[in-house]
Amino acid sequence: MNQVPHIAIIGAGFGGLAMAIALKTQLGFNNFTIYEKASDIGGTWRDNVYPGCSSDNPIHLYSLSTDLRPTWTNTHGYQPEIFAYMKSLVEKYSLQYNLSLNTKFLSAHWDSEKQLYHITTEDIVSGKKNTATAQIAISAVGILGMPKMPEIAGIDRFKGFLFHSSRWNTKLDFQGKRVAVIGNGASATQFIPEIVKLRETDVTQFCRSRIWYLPPDKFPVDIRGCKGTSIQEYYEFEGGPKAHLGTTIPGFPNFYMLSGPNTATGYSPVLLFEEIQVKYILQMVQPVLQSRVSSFEVTVKATEAYNHKMQGMMLHSAFLNCVSPYRIGGDGKITFVFPGSTAHFWWWLKRPIWGDYISVCSSSDSGADTDESASPSLVKVMAGFGVLAVAVAWVYKLL
Ligand SMILES: Cc1cc2nc3c(=O)[nH]c(=O)nc-3n(C[C@H](O)[C@H](O)[C@H](O)COP(=O)(O)OP(=O)(O)OC[C@H]3O[C@@H](n4cnc5c(N)ncnc54)[C@H](O)[C@@H]3O)c2cc1C
Repeated sequence: MNQVPHIAIIGAGFGGLAMAIALKTQLGFNNFTIYEKASDIGGTWRDNVYPGCSSDNPIHLYSLSTDLRPTWTNTHGYQPEIFAYMKSLVEKYSLQYNLSLNTKFLSAHWDSEKQLYHITTEDIVSGKKNTATAQIAISAVGILGMPKMPEIAGIDRFKGFLFHSSRWNTKLDFQGKRVAVIGNGASATQFIPEIVKLRETDVTQFCRSRIWYLPPDKFPVDIRGCKGTSIQEYYEFEGGPKAHLGTTIPGFPNFYMLSGPNTATGYSPVLLFEEIQVKYILQMVQPVLQSRVSSFEVTVKATEAYNHKMQGMMLHSAFLNCVSPYRIGGDGKITFVFPGSTAHFWWWLKRPIWGDYISVCSSSDSGADTDESASPSLVKVMAGFGVLAVAVAWVYKLL
């Protein structure tokens, strides 16, 4: 495989941009495409435009570590300012040349022989389907992208304006209207104080327990691994979303996820977790970009061991004491949140344990061979990380 490898990044929210910036600045690698189905970058911060939309975290904790910004105008950044910040990142790192906007990533099927993914995308404007290949695919599709309208009997006969807060009707004049808000999550908390300021606007809020996003147990893109199985099928077989370190899945070589299963927390900014994953992924992709290895695939054993440990920590957490959409079926396995501290996550992803991965050697003349022993340099690295793994286990016992 002598050609320069190509990386496909799916999604141009904070995760996709952080990944792209790291590839450019830390590996000096530019042969990647960020596929974005919308007409602009931004993800969450493009879609949520309701009055008062702001970050939940103090904004100084909610910026990329590469681009801290001392000049935020409020303690909690408002959407226009965060969106402008993201746009400035695109400009600063010239990411516009890597962006493929209005392009829905439909599928990526792994070709074991050629050691790459066959990709199909759809041009949202023309409807035309296109194909491409990539040696590495990185999902940054986010977790709040699919709003779900509440199932209320007769809602289809409602004659007024009806919309989800993440699809705000910016043309609607709320002045003098009777407004019913269904839900009591962070968004409602932000926009209700804004609309009650309007004269003669009557607001009633209805609260129940659920939040109104699609449960995060659906994987939106058809990614198929070396056995032809899709990620969605893998999740269903495993009784819900499951991954190694929330980042890799057995059977899916060179495929990485940002904000994968069990990576959300209520206490730590998403960006911090995503940047920890980005650093981990950089280390995984580097040997492939240097053509020393053509693919890495996480072992079932490592995935099982990690999930056993992580779900075991969940037993001591409060998450098991509530019915929540973060659990399968409301009260089943917890597949959304991470039960440990940010330090746990950082430590566990600080360096890949190469022995947790099956590598396929890169060979320019004889095609790819499965190579458990990898190259001599990789063996040394694996031995080094074996020692590190013992140290991690020891430190973890002390924590
Ligand atoms: C109002 C609000 C406030 C928030 N405040 C905070 C906060 O304070 N702290 C915090 O940690 N988090 C906060 N969040 C959560 C926020 O979603 C994340 O912090 C972060 O922005 C997620 O970035 P992302 O790139 O992972 O996903 P997203 O922002 O969802 O971006 C994913 C992108 O992928 C694209 N995409 C999806 N599928 C495809 C496909 N098939 N093909 C091509 N493109 C695709 C989408 O169009 C989107 O642009 C907040 C969310 C909201 C709504």
